[in-house]
Amino acid sequence: TMRRMRPADDPGKPDPRFAPHATDDETIVANATPGSYGALSVLRISGSRTIAVVQQIFEPLPDRFRQQQMYYGRFRDPEREDVLDEGYVVVMHAPQSYTGEDVAELSIHGGAVNVRRMLDAIRRCGVRLAEQGEFTKRAFLNGRIDLTQAEAVVDLLNAKTEASLDLALRQLEGRLSETLGELRAALIGVRSALELNIDFIEEDVPIFEAGPLVGQLDQALEAIRTLLESYERGRIYRDGLQLAIVGRPNVGKSSLFNALLREHRAIVTPIPGTTRDVLQDTANLRGVPVQLADTAGIHDAGDTVERIGIERSRAQVEHADLLLLVLDPSESLSAADEEIIATVTARPHLVVLNKSDLSPAWDNTRFAHALRVSALTAAGLEELIDRIVDIVGARDPGHEQSVVLTNARHRDLLERAAASLERAREALVGGEEPEFVTVDVQETLDAIGAISGMTTPDEWLNKIFSQFCIGK
Ligand code: GDP
Repeated sequence: TMRRMRPADDPGKPDPRFAPHATDDETIVANATPGSYGALSVLRISGSRTIAVVQQIFEPLPDRFRQQQMYYGRFRDPEREDVLDEGYVVVMHAPQSYTGEDVAELSIHGGAVNVRRMLDAIRRCGVRLAEQGEFTKRAFLNGRIDLTQAEAVVDLLNAKTEASLDLALRQLEGRLSETLGELRAALIGVRSALELNIDFIEEDVPIFEAGPLVGQLDQALEAIRTLLESYERGRIYRDGLQLAIVGRPNVGKSSLFNALLREHRAIVTPIPGTTRDVLQDTANLRGVPVQLADTAGIHDAGDTVERIGIERSRAQVEHADLLLLVLDPSESLSAADEEIIATVTARPHLVVLNKSDLSPAWDNTRFAHALRVSALTAAGLEELIDRIVDIVGARDPGHEQSVVLTNARHRDLLERAAASLERAREALVGGEEPEFVTVDVQETLDAIGAISGMTTPDEWLNKIFSQFCIGK
């Protein structure tokens, strides 16, 4: 019998034979430090003409370029011979560079006019402006990094807390790629064993032994499920926990919002275009990025503007991962309190009895598990933070040794992988022909391959790289 041949699989690295994507041979340039008004700007050039272009526009004081050395010199307009600027150039030869191509980084003076004029001069040397994420896309297309590592670059730039940053760094180092590579290698082993059986079936050689293969599939399933379980945690570290503070007017929602932020505000750049109708900010609670929303706007309102605000607040409550229900024990519970209690208790929530510095006006044994705090004196706030972090189950993943899944795309593909793997297992246990089992094993391999970019359709790739900023 003829054996069907497959290209050799190397589970560790993206195999270009599996990635039908190609990089073009144009040389590109972009400002790698956009949007900032600083003392320096760094322009990045990548592609086969990099060195030639640098030689055209830059006059180094020592007159040749050595790998990874910085040169001081003057930038000149190649046509008019005018000195444009002075600064430093560092050249990285292919493949030891960010993109895997020849790369140059030009440190020039900052300022929009200077950057524009330098970019124009470089473009006149036959270099085009880079698209969003194109440097990282080239790194991926050249097999320097896989797709999960490219995505980690975005996460790294967007990290909200140090813990989120650590997770992104570990993904960039290739920890997830490694785990996926091991999974692929194991499944490729199972596929080969099954194919051997397909080939020999015609010769009536009964060498089929399902037991060990079932064991291997179970192991792979276990590994996928562990990854999937880490996603809730990972998502919160990457995107933040949505926490909405709810309660009737005057219970102290805004005070609590401010008290939590006073000590724990996270360093994040506000996302442009977010609505200001609902007061929102990001806190760093024990490393967990928490998007706090003060829903002070929820109460009955007559005029339209206020009603819109209320609608937005309601949306906050609906999308929240966790609600902080604030009650004021110094005043008896009102009908408004009861109404809010009734709507909130169907959702994940924590009851907070604020104003614990005042004497209680009602017997609150009904809320035995409630947290007693005072937004005024900050009493009980640290305990409240502990409870929030415990509920999320996300205590400092920086110390976590296992790989944590942070990306919804990865989760969706792993769910697909788990589903086809379960079908493969069922077929194997049910004594189906090895051909049928192989189909499902192959589907699992394809889903896992799409995570690291081996089998990712081009339109997905474009979507992923369009999340990058220019110059990345
Ligand atoms: P909101 O309408 O729920 O946002 O409530 P506010 O945060 O505006 O607070 C309403 C009133 O309660 C204000 O006068 C606050 O100073 C006061 N307040 C808030 N928290 C506390 C607290 O813990 N103790 C005391 N004694 N007063 C508080």
